[in-house]
Amino acid sequence: MLLSYSLADEAATIDLGGGLTRAIETVGLGDGLNIHLLGDLGAGKTTFSRGVVRAFGHQGAVKSPTYTLVEPYEIAIDGGVIRRVYHFDLYRLSDPAELEFLGLDDYFNSSSLCLIEWPERGVGFMPQADIEIHLVELSSKARQFNFAALTVRGEQVLRALDKYDQ
Ligand code: ADP
Ligand code: MG
Repeated sequence: MLLSYSLADEAATIDLGGGLTRAIETVGLGDGLNIHLLGDLGAGKTTFSRGVVRAFGHQGAVKSPTYTLVEPYEIAIDGGVIRRVYHFDLYRLSDPAELEFLGLDDYFNSSSLCLIEWPERGVGFMPQADIEIHLVELSSKARQFNFAALTVRGEQVLRALDKYDQ
């Protein structure tokens, strides 16, 4: 399944991130979901991720993980349930094997949501993406987001996301 969105501004990107969170909540996190964000610097990967993380209920800052490689969010929601969201930016990884060396691969094997910027830099050391999102900068404010589902679970999430727009 493929979904495309043309977004007029940053607020629309944040809203779409919130829509993805609602879709994930509808389907459930299950054994975990891996989402790859592909696009140039400044395309909006971090901005979109901010929308996703905030919609999960995180109230503080959502910083770019450029230097830390990963920012973990453990969000307590009603009933004491904890949602784990791991936001990666692999731009500074010099070798994909560093993921294993730094123990970062452990994050992929939990029942959490992994949002991964620059997944191309970690090839061979990450599980398959459930969803790939390709971001294209159309103008200083407009962006195109193309979603592709690569697993059955990814497909379920995109179907739920599509429903919100109808
Ligand atoms: P990336 O993580 O892909 O490098 P960022 O999200 O950090 O990109 O930066 C995107 C930049 O583009 C920000 O400065 C943001 O304000 C700006 N911007 C303008 N329009 C949009 C939009 N529609 N969606 C996302 N970011 C936008
Ligand atoms: Mg970024």
